[in-house]
Amino acid sequence: MRVGVVGAGGAMGLTVCSAIVAQEDMELVAAVDPRLAGMDFRHATGLAVSGPQFVGDLESLRYDTPDVIVDFSVAEAARATLRFCADLGIAAVVGTTGIDQGELLELGRRFEVSHTGCIVAANFSLGAVLMMHFAELAAPLFDTAEIVEMHHNAKRDAPSGTALMTAQRMDAALRSHGSGSFAEDPTLSEEPARSRGLRSEGGVHIHSLRVAGTVAHQEVILGTDGQTLTLRHDSYDRRSFMPGVLLAIRAVRSVVGLQQGIDALVVGRLGGETRGG
Ligand code: NAD
Repeated sequence: MRVGVVGAGGAMGLTVCSAIVAQEDMELVAAVDPRLAGMDFRHATGLAVSGPQFVGDLESLRYDTPDVIVDFSVAEAARATLRFCADLGIAAVVGTTGIDQGELLELGRRFEVSHTGCIVAANFSLGAVLMMHFAELAAPLFDTAEIVEMHHNAKRDAPSGTALMTAQRMDAALRSHGSGSFAEDPTLSEEPARSRGLRSEGGVHIHSLRVAGTVAHQEVILGTDGQTLTLRHDSYDRRSFMPGVLLAIRAVRSVVGLQQGIDALVVGRLGGETRGG
């Protein structure tokens, strides 16, 4: 399978390139990153394997298209990658966060038109996928919910895509169980209630910490009479995302339109409920 990577010179991009070149069934055919354009692959990545020369944009791939393009860059570039792939009928796997839901749905429709697909996931680590699944299962049984997410201090978006996705899924679980939202928060009548973080539609409070030296960490703390349930996931290393990314690369050519998250590939295989999106 011929794979191209956008944002290839970034922290995630480099880890993805390194994972791809280690796969027998994959060939890294393009590394896109304007910061490293024109650089030799070995020199730019420090990897002891040969790979494509870095290019500055996707245009050079227009006439020699990969089977799959993976994007871990910045939101603006990822939107362009998705449009490029949808228009040329190339399957896409996107981990870049910061693209809003409305835009994603619109981009998903472009993929439907070209009968190809994309998998867009805010978190490719299998542990985080399970954390979101468990949070969704637990939400209707509790009165309050708080998410505390902690990421490295170079992260551009806040709250994290994972925190937003977790809250949206907990909200949806509450709606489908009839309650609609968590218990009323009395602090909200006090002005200003800034210390309570961002509040989702259903009342999940999200707190974002940006701490040097960390990678990606999240706690979901649910509470009800006399008990709390804490779900915690930690990614200590970017390699934690690779099994999910490789799973998505291998699966995406069977997708038509937008598939959000990799639950269908992870939880579905374990025999639980799936949210293929
Ligand atoms: P980073 O800043 O290290 O890397 C981003 C790279 O994108 C840089 O090398 C930059 O030069 C490149 N870039 C900028 N504009 C570009 C363009 N127009 N075309 C191509 N490349 C371009 O960031 P990172 O830590 O690697 O994270 C990248 C993205 O992945 C972020 O949105 C982050 O939130 C997300 N992320 C997602 C997951 C997940 O599991 N879904 C996990 C970790 C990070």
